[in-house]
Amino acid sequence: MNEVKTNNYLMNINGEWVGDSLSTLNVTNPANSDIIGTVPNGGEKEASQAISAAHEAYQSWSELTAYERAGYLKKLNQLMLDNLEEVAQVMTLEMGKPINESRGEVKYAASFIEWFAEEGKRIYGETIPSHATNKRLQVWKKPVGVVAAITPWNFPAAMLTRKMGPALAAGCTVVMKPSSESPLTAVKIMELCEQAGFPKGVINLVTGSSSKIAKAIMDNDKVRKITFTGSTEVGKILIRQSADQVKRLSLELGGHAPLIVLDDANVDLAVKGVMASKFRNAGQTCICANRIYVQAGVYDEFVEKFAQQVEKLKVGNGADDSVDIGPLINQAGLDKVKHHMDDAVKKGAHVVTGGKPITDDGGVFHTPTVVKDVDQSMVIMQEETFGPVAPIQKIASEEDAVKLANDTPYGLAAYVFTDNVAKGHRVIEQLNFGIVGWNDGAPSAAQVPFGGMKESGIGREGGHEGIDAFVESQYVSIGME
Ligand code: NAP
Repeated sequence: MNEVKTNNYLMNINGEWVGDSLSTLNVTNPANSDIIGTVPNGGEKEASQAISAAHEAYQSWSELTAYERAGYLKKLNQLMLDNLEEVAQVMTLEMGKPINESRGEVKYAASFIEWFAEEGKRIYGETIPSHATNKRLQVWKKPVGVVAAITPWNFPAAMLTRKMGPALAAGCTVVMKPSSESPLTAVKIMELCEQAGFPKGVINLVTGSSSKIAKAIMDNDKVRKITFTGSTEVGKILIRQSADQVKRLSLELGGHAPLIVLDDANVDLAVKGVMASKFRNAGQTCICANRIYVQAGVYDEFVEKFAQQVEKLKVGNGADDSVDIGPLINQAGLDKVKHHMDDAVKKGAHVVTGGKPITDDGGVFHTPTVVKDVDQSMVIMQEETFGPVAPIQKIASEEDAVKLANDTPYGLAAYVFTDNVAKGHRVIEQLNFGIVGWNDGAPSAAQVPFGGMKESGIGREGGHEGIDAFVESQYVSIGME
């Protein structure tokens, strides 16, 4: 480990930076194992204080007009863009993402704040034709209340803003709990929230023990909504824990995206699409193509052209502008990739390029890898790999593609490459996935609904649907006697 200057960062509760008397958690750079900072190891007490602050602030924040709330959000959007480089540098340091991708993520994260600043103005109620002349029937919309937002390490800025943007725009107040692997990006965003002048208690940031903080959230009836992005495993724990108080839940969970290339695809476009989808964030993206099904007629051409592109990718410390593939988040992440690779090779898969872990200088890297001749019995085709490994299976037909793609409990994203319009429609209509890229490897945007079917989650973030999760309908029947 190298000697580096570490900064001790704090949490923010009720507008104050606090937590300096608590024990700390180290935040480590996965490119070299350097400790780059610490955050307070908060627990139930700190979470309860943050919930009380959010509850206290709720009344006045929810009574502002949507236009007033949009004013704060627009300031935050501008501050994120003005401070893009600083936030991006912190993100790359703490979780390894190549710096150009971190810059892209900060822009993407800010776009949710901007989108929901506007969308808050369009939370319309309804007037419903009455069945009686002496009654008027209306639906009013109310913010759901205090929201707890729990986020993962892999998109530490965007996953936060995709939640706090709509929550704040709808009139909710927020307690944010980032992943302990990458909490510093959230601290930076919190600093920008402070500069944007949000009233105290409207946004709170708690770092530390996830299970203790989650317990405080679950036990406290002031929290009416939990919005979570992370693994399906933890999502299921939260479903069980939220039952006692029937808390509202939005869940963005794991994925296991199929990418289908049919015989009539433009192979060059498919290669471009899979490069965009597979290798972003070293393959640690919930919508990454995780299993690639290629029809026999274009299989050899696809494998060859794809491997040529993969061989050009540069692996290294994400802080270097020319790097395409940074480290994995930690040793456990690398171990999972190795396990998937070993299992595939043992069962008959062939490595076309890559296939090697790299652990020089304390980093946890894996070479970008193409494996062919895989089949559905291999772990790599059954579980989210979360690494820069692209397994390719040869398929005979369009029917095979649909059957194999749907053979999973997950249903987040899928990709289809075909230039045949009828076939594209036929295949996609049968796919049980919440997001589909048709001849497109990068479908995400602030203005579209993002989320999964089956065990990939409940609800949608982004788009006009993204704000629905933070409002309740209140039906009002007005007697006219
Ligand atoms: P994770 O282990 O489930 O953690 C997610 C968050 O939950 C972190 O803040 C974590 O805190 C917290 N947490 C862990 N155990 C908890 C518990 N028992 N109670 C309450 N909170 C708990 O997931 P991850 O490894 O950070 O993220 C990767 C996963 O997220 C992948 O499966 C990926 O597919 C999924 N993901 C999904 C989407 C989507 O939009 N669907 C987007 C991005 C990522 P600590 O880190 O402090 O323990």
